[in-house]
Amino acid sequence: MAKVFENLGIADTDLSEARKIVTRHLNSDFGEKYERYIATVGAALLKVYPPARNFSPSELVDIVSITDIIGPESRAIMKRMKEACTGCGWCCSQTRRIVVDEADTIRISRKLKRKREDIFALDGKDWVIKQAHPCGWWNPKNGRCQIYGERPRTCRVWPLGINELNQQTVQAVAQCNYAVMVLANKVIWMLQSAEKAAGAQVQPG
Ligand code: SF4
Ligand code: SF4
Repeated sequence: MAKVFENLGIADTDLSEARKIVTRHLNSDFGEKYERYIATVGAALLKVYPPARNFSPSELVDIVSITDIIGPESRAIMKRMKEACTGCGWCCSQTRRIVVDEADTIRISRKLKRKREDIFALDGKDWVIKQAHPCGWWNPKNGRCQIYGERPRTCRVWPLGINELNQQTVQAVAQCNYAVMVLANKVIWMLQSAEKAAGAQVQPG
């Protein structure tokens, strides 16, 4: 196994806990989706960061999925990687469930002079946008959000989200190039930090 995590000084117990979480992800309802996301990040990583070719396919999956769980905070990388957004519109047109804050439901319905229940619904304990596939505010003609200035917080911080374990991680959406490149860059940061910690450069394969 690659010495990446050892060089970073990550304790074996933390690593084994993170691997258990990855296994739970893979065995959950979104397991297939998560697997595709990790594979897509791995492929992107190999393209933009040749030293990653030193790892076997299974090591690469391990590194990417563990970084997804215990990698650095994403916001700074998200800011730096903004240009990775292709404007494909997936995040507004292909989502099936868009969870929003209750405060947003009040603010937006007031601003639009609509009854809250007409545009938002309670789904279990979550407030969601009623029309979410595509989002009712997505304009397919120009790909823009029709309430951009008023959009919910969840849209403002995309692709940052809360996973099923209540961790703040990048949304596992293989179709979103922005999400994929944010995680790929988290992995690069981890690999470079591990190289520095080991005091040796990883040579391209
Ligand atoms: S899905 Fe991702 S890449 Fe596509 S428009 Fe949304 S943020 Fe950009
Ligand atoms: S509210 Fe706007 S930004 Fe949010 S999903 Fe709908 S169209 Fe996209």
